[in-house]
Amino acid sequence: MKKGKVFSGARPTGRQHIGNYLGAIRNYVALQDDYDCVYCVVDLHALTTLTDTQVLKTNTREMVLDWLAAGMDPEKSIIFVQSHVPQVTELHTILSMVTPMGWLTRLPTFKEKVRLQPDNVNYGLLGYPVLMAADITLYKADTVPVGEDQAPHLEFTREIVRRFNHHFGPTLVEPQIKLTPFPRVMGVDGVNKMSKSLDNHIELASSPEEIERRVMTMVTDPQRRYRTDPGRPEVCNVFSFHGFFSPQQIEEIEGQCRNAEIGCVECKRVLARNLAASLAPFREQRAKLAADPKLVWDILEDGASRARAVADETMAEVRARVGLP
Ligand code: SF4
Repeated sequence: MKKGKVFSGARPTGRQHIGNYLGAIRNYVALQDDYDCVYCVVDLHALTTLTDTQVLKTNTREMVLDWLAAGMDPEKSIIFVQSHVPQVTELHTILSMVTPMGWLTRLPTFKEKVRLQPDNVNYGLLGYPVLMAADITLYKADTVPVGEDQAPHLEFTREIVRRFNHHFGPTLVEPQIKLTPFPRVMGVDGVNKMSKSLDNHIELASSPEEIERRVMTMVTDPQRRYRTDPGRPEVCNVFSFHGFFSPQQIEEIEGQCRNAEIGCVECKRVLARNLAASLAPFREQRAKLAADPKLVWDILEDGASRARAVADETMAEVRARVGLP
C-alpha cells in the first residue's frame, strides 16, 4: 500500500552533476518504494529561459540516462517528458482563468527572472507557476517533495487549486508539501552552489581522471597556507565532500587535518579516489544503458502513454466541471 502520489519535475539540463544527485535524484530514487511517483522532464518550462532550443533533445536524453543509471525505475515510476502530454497546456489555460494577475506579478521569483533577463520578459515567465500547478494537478499528485526555499511555490499551487475547487466544485487534488532536506552542495570553487553554468561542477558520469582533475582544483581552508598549519575541516569544502563520499574515514581525516598530519593535496587525492569508487557502479550502468540508442525514448514514450491516461481522466472531470461543451 503506497503512501500517496508524488510529482516532481526537472528541467532538461543534460548530464547531471553531484549537486543534482545529492539534492534531488537520490531522493527521487528513495521515494519510489513508498509512493507512486511521477517524474517529469519539464521541457516547456525550459523554453521560458532557453535561447538554444536545439539542445533540448540531447539534454533530455542525457539527463534521463543519468536518472535511470542512478536507480530511477520506469517499472516503479512514470518517467516522461512534459510536452508529450499536451493536456498540460489545456489545464494551464483553464487554471490561468482563475489566477489573479496580481498573484503572479508579485511573486519574488518572477521579479528575479525579470531582473536576470530584462530583454526577454515573456508571458511564459509570468505564467510559469500556473503551468507548474497544471503539472502537479493533472496527475492527481497529493505529495510534492520540496526544499524549504521552494515551499512558497507549492503554496501557490495549493491556492490555485482551492480557488478552482471553490469556483467549480471539488475537482483537483490539493497537494501537500513534503519538506525534504536538500543539502546545499557547493561547487569546486567553494564559493557558489554547484552549477553547470558556473562550470564548478563534477558530472556523475565523469571518468576517474576527470574527477581527480576537478577535485585537485577544489578550494580548501584559506588559512592553511603551509603543510604544517593545522586545518579547519569545518570551513573546508573538500571536507564536506568527504562527508558524502568518505563516511568510513571521516573521523580519521578530521583528526589528521586538525593535527596537520595530512596535506591538502593528499586529502584531495583520497577524496578523488573515494568519489571515483562511489560513482563506478553508476558509470558502468550508464554506459550499458547508453549503448542502446532507443532505450531512453522507449521509456519516455511508455511513460507519456501512462501519464496521458491519468491526464485524460483529469481533463474529462475538469471540462465537465467548468462546463465546456
Ligand atoms: S587537509 Fe583536507 S579537510 Fe583539511 S583543509 Fe586540507 S583539504 Fe581541507
